[in-house]
Amino acid sequence: MREKQRKVLVKQSVPGQEYRKLLKEIGKAGVKNLIVDVPTEKITQFLRHAKEVDMMSEYHNYFITSLDLHTVDLEEFQYVGTNISGFQLVDETAPEFEDVLHGLSTGLEQRMKREKSYSKTELALMHDAIKLLAVTLQHINRRGQDIDFPVVSCETEQPWPQGHYFVSYMRMITTRGLTGEIKFDKYGFRSDFNLKLNELTQEGLRHAGDWNTVMGISITGNMSKAFAEVKASLKNRTLTVTSLMNPPYVSLTEDTLKGNDRYQGYCVDLIEEISKELGFKYKFREVSDHTYGKKNQWGEWNGMIQELIEGKADLAVGDLTVTYERESAVDFTMPFMNLGISILFKKPTKKIPMLFSFLSPLSLEVWVYMVTAFLGVSLFLFIVARFSPYEWTNPHPCDPNPDTLENQFTLLNTLWFTVGSLLMQGCEVNPRAMSTRVVSGIWWFFTLIMVSSYTANLAAFLTAQRLSSPIESAEDLAKQTSIQYGCLQSGSTQEFFKESDISTFKRMWNFMESARPSVFVESNFKAVERVKKGNFAFLMESTSIEYIVERNCDLMQIGGLLDSKGYGIATPPGSPYRTLLSSTILKLQESGTLQMLKQRWWKNKGKNCTLEVTSQSVSASELGLDNVGGVFLLLFIGLCVACVIVILEFIWKLRRVPIEEREPLCLELCNELKFAIMCKGDTKPIRNEPVLPSNNLSLIQFSSIGNIDSKDVVS
Ligand code: ASP
Repeated sequence: MREKQRKVLVKQSVPGQEYRKLLKEIGKAGVKNLIVDVPTEKITQFLRHAKEVDMMSEYHNYFITSLDLHTVDLEEFQYVGTNISGFQLVDETAPEFEDVLHGLSTGLEQRMKREKSYSKTELALMHDAIKLLAVTLQHINRRGQDIDFPVVSCETEQPWPQGHYFVSYMRMITTRGLTGEIKFDKYGFRSDFNLKLNELTQEGLRHAGDWNTVMGISITGNMSKAFAEVKASLKNRTLTVTSLMNPPYVSLTEDTLKGNDRYQGYCVDLIEEISKELGFKYKFREVSDHTYGKKNQWGEWNGMIQELIEGKADLAVGDLTVTYERESAVDFTMPFMNLGISILFKKPTKKIPMLFSFLSPLSLEVWVYMVTAFLGVSLFLFIVARFSPYEWTNPHPCDPNPDTLENQFTLLNTLWFTVGSLLMQGCEVNPRAMSTRVVSGIWWFFTLIMVSSYTANLAAFLTAQRLSSPIESAEDLAKQTSIQYGCLQSGSTQEFFKESDISTFKRMWNFMESARPSVFVESNFKAVERVKKGNFAFLMESTSIEYIVERNCDLMQIGGLLDSKGYGIATPPGSPYRTLLSSTILKLQESGTLQMLKQRWWKNKGKNCTLEVTSQSVSASELGLDNVGGVFLLLFIGLCVACVIVILEFIWKLRRVPIEEREPLCLELCNELKFAIMCKGDTKPIRNEPVLPSNNLSLIQFSSIGNIDSKDVVS
């Protein structure tokens, strides 16, 4: 995080010279916070000169180093609104004060009270010094020690022999005086003393806090009272409001009106609402250089921010974004509108129908998966059919004792069967075994879902007007160079890309910076014109895009928001009105006034482009694996079930072969699988002669191992 940089300017006045010249120089340097170290009797003169050179506004803060500020008559500065404060060492509430004043003659007491000289720091310190001396002597006497006071001359080098002892004793003493508790550290300096912080208000100097060596500064001022005072002071003020012409925030009316009536817009209404709440008057003005505010390499600001710093305006309002850098130069109220950077682009033209647009309803990924599933299921069905003993049939039904068995699921037949079902046509090949029926069933279910989804989406594709935009996001913009893109110059959007550490935005900044002709546009209006011409995307704040898109149906917003920020009202640094303005904004927000103003200035009374956009956005999108992945999974599960069934079928059939004629189960399984995979024709010999009843007409199912028993024959 960058450190907030503070510049300190030290100026010394020439003795005997008046302060005006010096104060003018300070004013020109833009200094608003001053620590003033002048003799107490010169404080009034200094402040008067400051007033004369316009250095006494509500944005100026003076801290007077003299500890006797409370003895100076500051009445003439009480109502100017300038923050004047200083420390006081003398504790006027101390009981010692009463004792001191009692000891004076009535006339002297009156005079001292009038001139406030009784509480002068110097006098109080003298009083306390003597008190301390007296207390020390008392202590020493009480201990029974004698102190001699020989005549000591300052001209000789002969010291007072007991002086060192006396001073050391004094340092150990703690007592109370007119300046609070009197106590010393080991070096002989006052320790643990308290300084009272006084602040000038409309009622004179007020105790606003304390400073001491233990706690440091602690402010105890009455905030609500200060708040009320600021509110009261606003009532008589006419605030200058600077702004930049950019509809719908602020713009000039077409009529030849005068004064504030020349301006219209969301922000004009906002200031009007706030002024009604707080009771101040205002005067709108246009920022002279037509910029928001940007700091150059020498740390100088331009635009509205500069006008605030230079005291040309009391408020800056408009689509002025609150940024960290600006916040370090001026103060911002809480945001009255939230937004983010987005992309303004020309709406794409209608897509020319493609020759192969019938492929669009499904994504490429799904097409690849479908072809794979088709080939996979065909092969699987082929193997299962060869493996299952119930798919081997007598090729000549009239011959009860055939030599070979035949399988209808040849490779070609199987492919024909799966294609037939995929295209919802069917074919003459029909599964006989339980296992092949399961495979077929799940394949039919799969094709039913896929074909229905395809048909439904194809209909959507053909009816919806599909628009193709070459860019869909900031990443797309960053990746290409054929479409130019830019942003407003001297604004927070430009600053965002310049300062960003995110690689995409960095790349975009490098592109924008090096683009010729420049892609930094002077105003949103010019930017819109450029976007309309085509091949140019403009990075703009979302609320402005919303307004423009509503009125220009050939433009649209691309993607979401790249960041999140807000517009606030800016005030000069240290403005006492900031908190009041913020709380009024909050109030307007809660009462729905801000929302109502937004509606008023954003809604287009004529044609509404948003509706058009919605009807177009109904366009269909291709089905991805996310949409139909479940059907593929189901197909896979079905195939697994078929695997189990075919093995059971095989075992069931094998059970009928005499035990001495068969190999172990695993071996039989392996042999049969090998046979199934080897694809050696669609016939196979029978291992043993079947025993058939005489009236059997056909052999429908043979065991793959060639045994035909009476149960295998269906009459
Ligand atoms: N609202 C912006 C600003 O305050 C202008 C922009 O950069 O879009 O600087």
